[in-house]
Amino acid sequence: MRLDKFLSHNGFGTRKEVKFYIKKGLVTVNDEVIKNDGFKIDESLDHVVCNGITIKYEKYVYYMLNKPAGYVSANSDLRYPTVIDLIDDYYGNNLFCVGRLDIDTTGLLLITNDGVLAHRLLSPKNHIEKEYIAQINKSINDQDVLSFKEGIQLEDFKTRPSQLKLINNNDMGSLVSIIIDEGKFHQIKRMFNALDKEVINLKRIRMKNLSLDPQLSPGQYRRLTIEEINSLIGDSHEIKK
Ligand code: URA
Repeated sequence: MRLDKFLSHNGFGTRKEVKFYIKKGLVTVNDEVIKNDGFKIDESLDHVVCNGITIKYEKYVYYMLNKPAGYVSANSDLRYPTVIDLIDDYYGNNLFCVGRLDIDTTGLLLITNDGVLAHRLLSPKNHIEKEYIAQINKSINDQDVLSFKEGIQLEDFKTRPSQLKLINNNDMGSLVSIIIDEGKFHQIKRMFNALDKEVINLKRIRMKNLSLDPQLSPGQYRRLTIEEINSLIGDSHEIKK
């Protein structure tokens, strides 16, 4: 890998910034100062130091983003900014989102370059739980709760048993929490539409055992901790009722 790409990939700045460090002689490879930004390194073997900091090569990166409204869950889009555009401490072009949130949905989105983990979390047979908070335009009743529990017939499929809980009633209708273990297109909005209700806003707060960090404002992100990565990699579990 090129030295400038490696530094940028590891969060040492944009390609332009790291080129500047290299030209300034602030980067060594195996204890030798390298001033050529196109210098090729073996990232798994070479000892690279930038501004006195030794860089450990990471094959995989994992980010938790608090997705803001107005961004699409994609790598590129002709009309709207994408969630990948928000990750500005990574140079590589191999990041992708683990699943999609609608453009107006906010909250937890996992972004990684680990295809195996993504596949495991997205595979329908693994029934990975996703938890959301939603503002609904009307009051929720016991029948709605039961419908979620029993599964709701949509045009093209019947949803698996899921969980709906009232948090509180308010001027706009009701604030609820929802746990589903599948992820079909517009699923939650369609489930409420089938009950003659509308989702006014929707925020994902958990995926499997990874909860959205409350310190992250919309648009902010952070790397996952080792514990969080390991807990995602562990066995999938069934939805709890
Ligand atoms: N269900 C929806 O309707 N939209 C989302 O973004 C996620 C789940």
